[in-house]
Amino acid sequence: MIDLRSDTVTKPTPGMLQAIMQAEVGDDVYKEDPSANALEQRMAEMFGKPSALFFPTGSMANQAAIKLHTQPGEQLICDKYAHVYNYEGGGVSFNSGVSCKLLDGTHGKITAAQVEAAINPPDFYHSPLTTLVCLENTTNKGGGACYDFDTIDEIRAICDKHGLGLHLDGARLMNAIVAMGQDPKEFGKRFDTITVCFSKGLGTPIGTVLIGNQDLMDNAIRVRKVLGGGMRQIGYMAAACLYALDHHVERLAEDHKKAKEIGEVLQSLPQVKKVAPVETNIVIFHVEDESTFLKAMDDHNIIVSNMGQGALRVVTHLDYTGAMHQEFLEILRKTLS
Ligand SMILES: *Cc1c(COP(=O)(O)O)cnc(C)c1O
Repeated sequence: MIDLRSDTVTKPTPGMLQAIMQAEVGDDVYKEDPSANALEQRMAEMFGKPSALFFPTGSMANQAAIKLHTQPGEQLICDKYAHVYNYEGGGVSFNSGVSCKLLDGTHGKITAAQVEAAINPPDFYHSPLTTLVCLENTTNKGGGACYDFDTIDEIRAICDKHGLGLHLDGARLMNAIVAMGQDPKEFGKRFDTITVCFSKGLGTPIGTVLIGNQDLMDNAIRVRKVLGGGMRQIGYMAAACLYALDHHVERLAEDHKKAKEIGEVLQSLPQVKKVAPVETNIVIFHVEDESTFLKAMDDHNIIVSNMGQGALRVVTHLDYTGAMHQEFLEILRKTLS
């Protein structure tokens, strides 16, 4: 079985299991878990921010961030592909009573001009008050695309001009940082809050850290509690995250290399209509005949994701070995040429 649906299908490595077994733990609801505290401190320092908090999932961390930035009735701005809008169960409205203004970006990325045009005039009381912009980096439904700092700077300037918060859904931020050779602190400077997932390319069973400015983060632990995310001896999972920071960050480059190679092979196949640019570990592509393609994959015990509207998705990850990669490329060439 070659599972390319997502980078979330990985299982802990022996080294990570060892780190979990040896973790020092305590009751994190009392903030007495040394491993969770160490992870939060390490992430805050890495991004040059004053505060960080561990969450069980990326969705909960994003939802908490949105809650921290907004009041009911307000509106946030995001791309039409945004995870916070599409894949968090309607949590923006359920948890925060907030609506989303969707922008028609490119590969899930939006521009400062689009953001500025989408802001409702604050004195026009008929419209919801715009208070937050959410970016995603890398983009998921957008195909693993990365923002450059110039674009982020322009968006930040618009947020400052209009008094809007700026949140980064960085579920795969480490992929972007490795692919673009960026310094995490440069993200810390530009965003008010940032989520980073460990359960994606970094290969832990669970875990996301929300990093942010002190004034916002002061209330984060209460919001996490309200969402049911206060956890006890969570240090076992924090230890897995610390292990991932030491051992699974640089290797993301291997996932990116494999994804690029998959993209190139797909591009060369007559059955494949279009392959989105491959920047990190996600390959989004369109085929002539989806059911023939998916049947061929099924026959070879390969699973990919169907993203709807003719888009298919492959994601490379820690458990996608070199041997699997050669086999997958071979099957693509043989069955689809
Ligand atoms: C996976 C993901 C999340 C968080 O998902 P969870 O499954 O709740 O951990 C958030 N944003 C993006 C872009 C993602 O890909």
